This record gives sequence, C-alpha cells and structure tokens, in this order.
Amino acid sequence: MVDNNFWDYLKEGFLNLIYPLSCQNCGRPIKESKGYSLCDDCLKLIKLISPPYCYRCGKPFSGEVDFEEKAICADCLTKKRPYYFTRSVAYYQGVLREGVHLLKYQKQVKLVQPLGNLLVSYLAKNDFIMIREIDLVVPVPLFKKDCLKRGFNQSSLLAKYVADYFSLYFSEDLLIKDKMNLSQVGLSKTERKKNVRKVYTLNTSFSLEGLSNILLIDDIFTTGATIDACCRELKKTGVEKLYVLTLARGV
Ligand SMILES: [Zn+2]
Ligand SMILES: [Zn+2]
Repeated sequence: MVDNNFWDYLKEGFLNLIYPLSCQNCGRPIKESKGYSLCDDCLKLIKLISPPYCYRCGKPFSGEVDFEEKAICADCLTKKRPYYFTRSVAYYQGVLREGVHLLKYQKQVKLVQPLGNLLVSYLAKNDFIMIREIDLVVPVPLFKKDCLKRGFNQSSLLAKYVADYFSLYFSEDLLIKDKMNLSQVGLSKTERKKNVRKVYTLNTSFSLEGLSNILLIDDIFTTGATIDACCRELKKTGVEKLYVLTLARGV
C-alpha cells in the first residue's frame, strides 16, 4: 500500500513542474518542497522582536539599558489597557513589510502560509499565552465593502491559519466593522484614536457564554488605536483574558 505522503509528494512535484514556485521577495526559484512563497533565505531576513519589551503592550524598549523581565512602558503605567497582553512577532520593515503589502494589495494569498507560520511558531515558542486555554480566535474585521473589494480580510486569513493549526474555535463575525473610517495611514496618534471610535461593534447574535480567553489577531500594530477599539468591544463579552497577537509592529 502506498501512503498519502507519497501521493502528496508526487502531486506537489508535478505541480512544481508546471508552475515552478518562485520567492515573492527575491524572485529566486524555491527548491524546498514546502509550497511556501517566500524562500528560506528571505524568511531569515525578517527581524523578529525579542525582549526587552513592555510586559503589557509589547512595545520594544530601545537602548542598552537592562530592563526587568516584567517592566511596563510609560504609556501602560498611565493608561488602563483593555487587553491582558499584546505581542507582535516582528518589526514592520524589509521583507515582512513587503510580504504584508503583497498579501494586502497584490492579493498574493499564498503568503498566508509563511506569514501564518510566523504567528504559529511565535505562539509555540513563547509562553505569554497558554494556547490550549484559548476558547476563541478572532481577527480585526474589515469594513464589509472593503472586504468585498479586496476579496478577503488578511487578518482573518492569518487568524484562521492559527486557529486551524492549533485546532481552536475561530469566528470571523464576532466583531463587526460597521462604519467606514478613513485609512489610518498618515494620521497622528490622536487622529487615529478618533478615527476608530465607534467603528467596531460586537455581534450580539452570538452566544458568548462560557468564554474565558480570546485571542485577537491583526496584521500590523501601529499606534494600537485599532486594537484598543476592538478590545473594548470584546470586553463586553465578559471575557476573562484578552490576548492580542499581531504579525508586525510599526513600533
Ligand atoms: Zn527569497
Ligand atoms: Zn506598554
């Protein structure tokens, strides 16, 4: 009897012959039998965020100063955060920035796999979340019209990738973006905060009993205004702990 792996291997080899896979970043052909659209060399160029960073919001601390393990940034000391922890996998620059752009604006959905893997390996390696305790994974939503125009919500694809990998429940509709706001790009911190006010709402048609821990996923953390607005709504579910993970951080 021939096992499934053998047929998968044959199928992949055949598909690669017809449509050779090339790296979305450097254009070189991908030899690895992974079906990824970023080569291993380019993936290694992604600058991961490592400690020290704020224990609450995940903001990286700069400089050579020795920070305590659970140090909190000045913003988190003065403001009550609606989430338990926020973390981001890597800096929003270079290959990652390019990758997110290609996914969002060039609709290169094949990038969901390598980018989703970055989230998965972060969750597997870091113990800021007890992944088995997560009851539900939700994405930051897109406005319906924007979503139809793009054909997908990139945060939703990434969140589903994570949920599927760890066999967790996933909901695309728990949070709804029912108002159109201006693009956050180019706005100041205060303008961003104002721009997302009352834009996200909780879908009350869901039965939310028994939810203890929710993981919210987004592609980029910039000032945190969107994350804060979404978390304030999610808090209304009565959830115990709200965790946030974003792929990239604009610092
Ligand atoms: Zn490459
Ligand atoms: Zn902080």
